[in-house]
Amino acid sequence: MKIRENVPLSELTTMRLGGPAKYVIDIEKLDDITPAFDFVAEKNLPFYILGGGANTIAKDDGFGGVIIRNTMTGIRDVVPGERVTALEGDPQLSFAKMGEDKGRQDPLPSGPVQITALGGTDWDAVVAYTTERGLTGIEALSKIPGTAGAAPVQNIGAYGQELADTFLSAEVYDIKNKSFKTLQKSDFGFSYRRSILNSTKKGQYFVISITLELKPGTMSRPFYNSIERYIDEHHCTDFSPAGIRNIVSIIRSDKLPDPAKKASAGSFFKNIYLTKDEAEAAEAKNIPVYHGHDGLKINSGWLIEQCGLKGKLLHGIRVCDAAALVLINESATSYNDLAAARTEIIKSVHDKFGYQLEQEPNEI
Ligand SMILES: Cc1cc2nc3c(=O)[nH]c(=O)nc-3n(C[C@H](O)[C@H](O)[C@H](O)COP(=O)(O)OP(=O)(O)OC[C@H]3O[C@@H](n4cnc5c(N)ncnc54)[C@H](O)[C@@H]3O)c2cc1C
Repeated sequence: MKIRENVPLSELTTMRLGGPAKYVIDIEKLDDITPAFDFVAEKNLPFYILGGGANTIAKDDGFGGVIIRNTMTGIRDVVPGERVTALEGDPQLSFAKMGEDKGRQDPLPSGPVQITALGGTDWDAVVAYTTERGLTGIEALSKIPGTAGAAPVQNIGAYGQELADTFLSAEVYDIKNKSFKTLQKSDFGFSYRRSILNSTKKGQYFVISITLELKPGTMSRPFYNSIERYIDEHHCTDFSPAGIRNIVSIIRSDKLPDPAKKASAGSFFKNIYLTKDEAEAAEAKNIPVYHGHDGLKINSGWLIEQCGLKGKLLHGIRVCDAAALVLINESATSYNDLAAARTEIIKSVHDKFGYQLEQEPNEI
């Protein structure tokens, strides 16, 4: 277990803002988990579990508590009939390191395959691991920044797939009860960008590993609109998991900033969900309402665009010109700059449409 002091949160979050965290603990092996949370209790400090920081914003005065990060990485197949879990043995020995084949069974499976990824693993490496073998289920979730351990927290989703579609279970540390356990999918209460981990049981569980089940095959058509459009325009014929991963990666790179190159936290505002009556009222005012599988909603990016803010630089924060829902930290030096830009955007949308935008990323 590594304990560091006074670590700038700007270095641990993709928006690259925020002052120092008093302590940062990197969990490097299972045996680190209990002592890490004992440390928190002994110091009587608040804690925050941090993955890749792609959905987390930090403030200028930092965090006077303990940041706990799962830095255990690796992916492996669950071997049929053999119960190999992250909670048995040393996961660093039994799990494939990124780019290695250790832990990988049949390269071209003929039936469903269950895989387990340790929570610190880069999510996109999990997608690569499965799509390379022709397994369908998470190919549309390609290039979502962050860690495997954070993926169930908001039930990550994109282009018609969400984590819950393939999720089986997670091994967790129950911080409240100081015990290790396996939670099944049914325990997670998954819905759109929601699970118990960001709602009813927020802060209770530290995700050690996740297990997914994927099948050989392809996604079924019709694909999500923007994928269909890309296929038409580029005459694509490869709809294999690797083919769709490729298409999604290209679409995303045209639309969304790569956090390695541009500081951002992805979609900065939540879309606006409506009742049937509210949707009718919005449509009567020519506001486009989407009838998604998650309900009736207005794309908040559309509202921001209609306010003339798309592409604008506000206090060093750029409203992304390819996707107005995304804010990019171009030259902001403090959280206050971001807060000022946020206030301006929220006010513009409220003044013009009467809708109140809500921030999507978590704040430490
Ligand atoms: C450019 C960009 C594009 C994005 N596109 C999408 C998208 O298409 N779809 C989508 O759903 N999201 C998207 N996001 C949001 C983000 O990628 C996801 O929320 C991702 O799951 C965050 O992972 P992370 O490891 O960085 O989480 P963090 O920001 O570090 O943490 C997020 C939350 O998870 C909790 N958490 C993290 N790790 C653990 C753990 N081991 N145990 C328990 N709790 C934990 C944290 O406490 C926090 O509440 C995007 C973000 C960016 C920057």
